[in-house]
Amino acid sequence: MGTLYIIATPIGNLKDITLRALEVLKSVDLVACEDTRQTLKLLNHYQISKPLVSYFQHSKLSKIEYIAGQLAEGKNVALVTDAGTPGISDPGGKIIEHITNNMKQDAGIRIVPIPGPSAVMAALSISGFPTDKFIFMGFPPHKKGRNKFFEEVARAGYVVVFYESTHRILKAMEQLKGLAPERQIVAARELTKMFESVYRGTAGEILDKLNEDKNNLKGEFVIIVKNE
Ligand code: SAM
Repeated sequence: MGTLYIIATPIGNLKDITLRALEVLKSVDLVACEDTRQTLKLLNHYQISKPLVSYFQHSKLSKIEYIAGQLAEGKNVALVTDAGTPGISDPGGKIIEHITNNMKQDAGIRIVPIPGPSAVMAALSISGFPTDKFIFMGFPPHKKGRNKFFEEVARAGYVVVFYESTHRILKAMEQLKGLAPERQIVAARELTKMFESVYRGTAGEILDKLNEDKNNLKGEFVIIVKNE
């Protein structure tokens, strides 16, 4: 039976990859990835050439079955996502869930983590907020349930971390301004990339700064809200 390696890859800067991740990527029979173009950038950079299979959150079960079949045949498979640690709010999670749910106890498939970057941890590490206890809430819903999500953030007794895209960042700050106007927030954008920027302050203060930068607001955000 093969081994499924869950490999963390860079969240921007291609140098943020562990020696072990490179070693395992070089050794496996197959790399299961989200978007082949994204993974090829990384593999080409390190001159690693491997067969790639793309899975996608909504793709047919056949992709998952193909990966499970390869493992059953004794092949070693690396699972990566477009950025960061697979399974943390990304399509990789579904694959791992499916394989673990359908894995017979005696199947002998090993699932091995190869830890490394994750946007949650990178942002938390520079927040300066107490991180002995925190809640990670993934992405806010786009429409239905969005208000409830932010009410939960505002009520939380711990530091809350969540992800948000450029398109909804202003809306997210407006919502936090209304529900938790006094709370200190860190909004970390494009971490480890050329236009890395970290906004600190209350939701209102960050909103003002974001509005000043409105014309070049690109990239994805991690938002951290300090507890009271
Ligand atoms: N599994 C990934 C991880 O461990 O970081 C997260 C995948 S999730 C689909 C992608 C989201 O992570 C982005 O929308 C953004 O909120 C956050 N993210 C990823 N890379 C980032 C970066 N370089 N700077 C800030 N946020 C980032």
